[in-house]
Amino acid sequence: MKTLPLERSLWYDTAAPAPETHPLAGAVAADVAVIGGGYTGLSTALHLAKRGVKAVVLEAEEAGYGASGRNASHCSPTFLHHTPEEVVAQWGPIYGPRMVRLQADAANLVFGLIKEYGIDCEAVQNGLIYPAHTKAALKAQESVCASYAALGKAVRMLDKGEAAALIGSDRYVGGWFHPEGGHLNPLGYARGLARAALKEGAVIHTGTRVRRVVPDGVQWRVEAQGGSVTADKVVIGTNAFTGDFWPDLGKTFFRLTAFNVATEPLTENVRRSVLPGNNNLIDARKDTQYYKLDKDGRLVTGSVVNWSRGLDQERTFELIQRRVRHMFPQIGEPKWRWLWHGYVDMVPEMIPKFFRPAPGVVAALGFSGRGVPTCTALGKSLAGWAAGDIAEADLPLPFLDPKPLFGRRILSFMTPTVAGPLYRWQDRHALRRDGQAPPKL
Ligand SMILES: Cc1cc2nc3c(=O)[nH]c(=O)nc-3n(C[C@H](O)[C@H](O)[C@H](O)COP(=O)(O)OP(=O)(O)OC[C@H]3O[C@@H](n4cnc5c(N)ncnc54)[C@H](O)[C@@H]3O)c2cc1C
Repeated sequence: MKTLPLERSLWYDTAAPAPETHPLAGAVAADVAVIGGGYTGLSTALHLAKRGVKAVVLEAEEAGYGASGRNASHCSPTFLHHTPEEVVAQWGPIYGPRMVRLQADAANLVFGLIKEYGIDCEAVQNGLIYPAHTKAALKAQESVCASYAALGKAVRMLDKGEAAALIGSDRYVGGWFHPEGGHLNPLGYARGLARAALKEGAVIHTGTRVRRVVPDGVQWRVEAQGGSVTADKVVIGTNAFTGDFWPDLGKTFFRLTAFNVATEPLTENVRRSVLPGNNNLIDARKDTQYYKLDKDGRLVTGSVVNWSRGLDQERTFELIQRRVRHMFPQIGEPKWRWLWHGYVDMVPEMIPKFFRPAPGVVAALGFSGRGVPTCTALGKSLAGWAAGDIAEADLPLPFLDPKPLFGRRILSFMTPTVAGPLYRWQDRHALRRDGQAPPKL
């Protein structure tokens, strides 16, 4: 049964069509079986196939059915909540710098693949704006911007005037700009990765849910709806949709529901004044606001579901309209048409993890809401490992034992119900401390 209909998303209505794929029928052999047809699984399969390694992807629904086909579309070469220094402190001197480098270069990898394979997905790499709503947030951004500059990136701070001109709103005190960031049509990108993987020789079976993975001599047999795949290695990229086909894997994270909304195309006049350079933005609030325009000038934004925010359509459109009207007063009363949802696989560290539940079986999980570039890059790393080209010791993350995350049910409940309102209170408080009157939203 489909948990969340993909058909409700803007991307479903506007993405380029998926390549033709069929359900698995019978028993087949592969070098590597890949479970999950999102960015992680598809990037793994693409990079395996490029090396001439036979990869078979098993996807329960369709390519991009999970978070990959329904996300907010920001391709950010930064971490969601951490500075590069914090990542190094968390992962140590070996893995920390590798993960920082991987993430810092990941947007270029995405846009490079799009170019290489001619992926039709509204890709725009015009640079990402990270605006600050308060002077304190702007101060904190100075060192983040300096860290990415030290990594060789042509990032720069924005003063209030520059931020206002790029965004089309004077609500920010400044910000910073990363020229390698951008946005795309997420489902179009997932389908394009699938097409690229097929072109390179990978096999993709959609409508094929994996039921269990069992040893078969020195290999693994992935038993699925319609048949099985026997392979030397298994790569799992099932994200927040990870069920119970492998015990405990689905308990390594807690799950949040996020939503996105989109308007009908804005009028030409308004469009020229909202993000006029076709940049996208992710701001520094605790209850983060993010915006972009799609190819036809539809404004796309969203957040994490909080009580009825994100669930009740009428109330959600009303709340978001107030927020957007505060940010972009020139927008008037656009017609909100799309509201859709997706699950996010959260880990407290907010940085993904590699798990190795058994020799030869690995999973990448816990993307915590930043997966467009990260899944693509980590999928490439896992392909290198599965093909035998990258030694385990040279991977960007270590293989961990999957252990149930303590308190995950409480975290799933508390984050939207308690943390959400708390974050909004903190945002209002920060504005007051900054001498600004918080908007009544
Ligand atoms: C609403 C929302 C907004 C987001 N916004 C952004 C953003 O702006 N920028 C960003 O970088 N990241 C964003 N993210 C996060 C990003 O979308 C994800 O991290 C990323 O898409 C995860 O990709 P994945 O391939 O690991 O998993 P998914 O894309 O979720 O794919 C997992 C796949 O596994 C399949 N599957 C599960 N179980 C089985 C099984 N038993 N057998 C076969 N197949 C199975 C599912 O059907 C699914 O297609 C957002 C996420 C959400 C939900």
